[in-house]
Amino acid sequence: MEKLTKTTISQLKNFVDKTVTIDGWVYNKRVSGKIWFLLLRDGTGLAQCVIVKSEVDSENFELKNILSQESSVSITGTVRKDDRSVGGFEIGVQSILVHQIADEYPISPKEHGTDFLMNNRHLWMRSRKQNAILKIRHHVIKACRDFFDSNDFVLMDSPILTANAVEGTSDLFEVGYFNRSAFLTQSGQLYGEAGAMAFKKIYCFGPTFRAEKSKTRRHLTEFWMVEPEIAYCDLDENMTWAEKFVEYIVSHCIENCKAELDILERDISKLEKIKTPFPRITYDEAVKILEKKGVDFQYGSDFGGTDETLISEEYDCPVMIHRWPAEIKAFYMKRDKQNENLALGVDMLAPEGYGEIIGGGQREDEHDILVERINEHKLPIDVFGWYLDLRKYGSVPHSGFGLGIERAVTWISGIRHIRQTIPFPRTLTRLEP
Ligand code: ATP
Ligand code: MN
Repeated sequence: MEKLTKTTISQLKNFVDKTVTIDGWVYNKRVSGKIWFLLLRDGTGLAQCVIVKSEVDSENFELKNILSQESSVSITGTVRKDDRSVGGFEIGVQSILVHQIADEYPISPKEHGTDFLMNNRHLWMRSRKQNAILKIRHHVIKACRDFFDSNDFVLMDSPILTANAVEGTSDLFEVGYFNRSAFLTQSGQLYGEAGAMAFKKIYCFGPTFRAEKSKTRRHLTEFWMVEPEIAYCDLDENMTWAEKFVEYIVSHCIENCKAELDILERDISKLEKIKTPFPRITYDEAVKILEKKGVDFQYGSDFGGTDETLISEEYDCPVMIHRWPAEIKAFYMKRDKQNENLALGVDMLAPEGYGEIIGGGQREDEHDILVERINEHKLPIDVFGWYLDLRKYGSVPHSGFGLGIERAVTWISGIRHIRQTIPFPRTLTRLEP
């Protein structure tokens, strides 16, 4: 297919000594007598443009006094190789076409508080670091899809509006639905299980919602999750899929996001260590690590953020923790035949203290046991009729997991807070812009 795109800054290397026109925005400007420099931003990179008084008409030259930061311009000029310039090229300007002179831009290179920047998120995303993070997000999502597509998974969208709470109502968003109420989905998993029985291997990918009332660096109220579900798959095979998947995402980003990781000053040597097989330890073994490190941990409870950091510190690669106390896991998790108190769940913790990035496990596939569990959890059995059907008509062992896109992007980008990994974050205290 013929490309419809015009020349961009990222392609300048193909146009050395040629004349190009680049559409973009003024990132910065430096004036010195008979020559001035315009740093042009076009969303693919930065390029220094040089305007010499004797080489342009006077109207163009005088733009040095009026072109403000973020003014929109199309610049025509000759591409020159120049190792001292950002990106390695500069443009000797012939003419500048002005589209709009920007009002005084609120975000300057000086330090701003996070709250101010978040209030200006619609503009902040133009900044170099934010731009780099969101491009890495693009690549993480692309890698997820490429991985599953090339392994014969079928993309199956699950609904966002659901009738009933799957794992308790405490962190569900309730919305009006004609003359009843509905809930925003927390996970597509149960629907994914139906899909796995229809297609064998599926993945759903979409936004999920949780009314997280705690403020942490790892929680959003709206986040994107990719959830594969695989028929004829036990916990071990599930863990193999999970590690291959994460290895693929990381290597895709190392290969395709060099410039972005560089802007973020990410230590790539840490990412280069992400190679399968990843360590697999049981919940019991993880607890022992904590005890050895002097943590006063209550056996049977879930790991908190600090616990996760202490456990993952032991490894260069993500670590998978499997076989959890059944009481703290969801009703649909299959129990371990060797020890009925353990659920066949798995969490994957990212290294460098980034915490949980994946949660998953093997699902209960026996009809009568599942009914028992639904009753134990005091869940309304009637709404699970369709889900129980999956255990009546050709039930098989099956497993799956969910990767939080923003958690993965936070880790790969090496940034502190999850809120920068999504264009417009939603948290307990933020619904705008
Ligand atoms: P945590 O214990 O960190 O709250 P969880 O056990 O609630 O996570 P799961 O229900 O297993 O998480 O969800 C699967 C994945 O979705 C997690 O491993 C994580 O990557 C992501 N995730 C869960 N909750 C959030 C959230 N509030 N914001 C962003 N990502 C999330
Ligand atoms: Mn949670």
